[in-house]
Amino acid sequence: MSESTLREAIVRFGRSLFERGLTFGSSGNISARVDDGWLMTPTSVALDRLDPARLSKLGSDGQHLSGDQPTKEAFLHLAMYLERAGAQAVVHLHSTYSVAVSCLANVDPADVLPPVTAYYVMRVGSLPLVPYHPPGDRALAEAVRRLAGRHHAVLLANHGPVVAGDSLEAAVAAIEELEETAKLFLLLRQEKTRWLTAEQVAEVRRRYPPK
Ligand SMILES: [Zn+2]
Repeated sequence: MSESTLREAIVRFGRSLFERGLTFGSSGNISARVDDGWLMTPTSVALDRLDPARLSKLGSDGQHLSGDQPTKEAFLHLAMYLERAGAQAVVHLHSTYSVAVSCLANVDPADVLPPVTAYYVMRVGSLPLVPYHPPGDRALAEAVRRLAGRHHAVLLANHGPVVAGDSLEAAVAAIEELEETAKLFLLLRQEKTRWLTAEQVAEVRRRYPPK
């Protein structure tokens, strides 16, 4: 995909995520890999107001090359890319249900959500919780890096999800699946439920091996 097509795609997905209430205010950010670095959504701009020509461009060592100043959460994206050579895009949202789950006590920090559906297993798989850090704390990048090699999706405690994909479409689809699964989990948490069994999860993974 050419850089200009990718710029248009980031703007289109940003608007779509914003208009469907998956992010709000100037929260949430999107990045994608290009030949000579990364495109990233700028700081302090709502995702429905992105301008393809003003997206931030970062060089291969993470320095700002052109466009507006990148999101202050750029380090989260770079932490994912540094550990995942195949990652082509990263999306981070403050999507309501995922944030709600990120605040729950008594979840398994190694894998926060149960296997609610096969689609969740296919698109997200497992979801470790990254301990809480204040905004902008660089220790958060280290904490993400420690998990990113083994997980393309992580949940930042009291903050929100960060999801990488082998395409921009895949990263967006995965974070949407995560958000809907978080919603289902909260709807069902007080009910007697049948999550997928370990055997059913293994069968899905055999048919659709995680990338
Ligand atoms: Zn954030």
